[in-house]
Amino acid sequence: MSFYEKVKDFNGFNFNNFFNSITEEKIEHILVKDRVNEEDFLSLLSPKAEKYLEEMAQIAHDISINNFGRAILLYTPMYLSNYCVNKCLYCGYNVENGIRRKKLALGEVEVEAKAIYEMGYRHILILTGESRKHSPISYIKDCVKILKKYFSSIAIEIYPLEEDEYRELICSGVDSLTLYQEVYDEDTYKSVHVAGAKSNYKYRLDAPERAAKAKIHSLSIGALLGLEDWRKEAFFTGLHGKYIEKNYPDIELTLSTPRIRPHAGSFEYVREVTDKNIVQAMLAYKIFIHRAGINITTRERAEFRDNLLPLGVTKMSASVSTEVGGHSNNEKGDKQFEIDDSRNLEDIKFAIKAKGYHHIFKDWEPI
Ligand code: SF4
Repeated sequence: MSFYEKVKDFNGFNFNNFFNSITEEKIEHILVKDRVNEEDFLSLLSPKAEKYLEEMAQIAHDISINNFGRAILLYTPMYLSNYCVNKCLYCGYNVENGIRRKKLALGEVEVEAKAIYEMGYRHILILTGESRKHSPISYIKDCVKILKKYFSSIAIEIYPLEEDEYRELICSGVDSLTLYQEVYDEDTYKSVHVAGAKSNYKYRLDAPERAAKAKIHSLSIGALLGLEDWRKEAFFTGLHGKYIEKNYPDIELTLSTPRIRPHAGSFEYVREVTDKNIVQAMLAYKIFIHRAGINITTRERAEFRDNLLPLGVTKMSASVSTEVGGHSNNEKGDKQFEIDDSRNLEDIKFAIKAKGYHHIFKDWEPI
């Protein structure tokens, strides 16, 4: 059985009827439980639970302190290439967008790596647009070989791979995978991924599990909030996380709440996701899966990110450039989307300290 079967179980399920059936008594009953089940989790994502965000925040805070302490891991992404063969309607790298395309030569990767290392980072996330032709596995491996000289943890955010290919990259030095399903609703998925390999919903959905079978150390999953009803999308993200946790208990799991941002091209069908909605999703995740980390990226504005810290955040990106070569190169490739929190690293470290937390640059080193 794959997680796809689990998603299929909810075909025809009437989420609105379920949400309408939730009472305040039910939420109060859930909030005194040590462990919540799937139905409880969905209830915590309901409109009725909005009244209980303060109580949920206290519970999520306690769970997070017990499992992660007050450490916030800082990492930064490095964009290797913005060539892409897909036509995701919500993304600046869409093959039909007339942006300046660039792929880093290996010498440029080294320069970029040095620039990031000198800032203090020891965990790096490398990204490419989804093009096997422009960024084949051999290229990723060559880049990893260089990056290993500088970083203790190398995460990838690239096109979905076969299990053997994940194994090959893990052997070369990759330890973490970030792979967002973007949208769990299969019909909406097909309507926003209109062509290219990414239009294969199930192949993408099963990719984190293929990486888990290949023995990846750490997995980061999530839905791009704004493409569908966020309550349903957060529910399936949580179920996906629970599925990974249950079947691959050794994996370090992180859930993300990326929200759609302005980008090259125009996508008109964005569903509203408020700050309050993001908070509710985060809290429900933490209460449902105690040992899942939470990642908040620079897609969100500075003040909001700072206020989220005590609610269970464990990882933050910083010094982000979504341009290829954005940390060092004079001739950059165009960016994927606009970030919101553009503070420098020192300001982010200061903000973390001001909230009573401490930043770390490293929590993993391969044997
Ligand atoms: S979301 Fe990914 S696959 Fe889609 S256009 Fe952007 S880079 Fe390409």
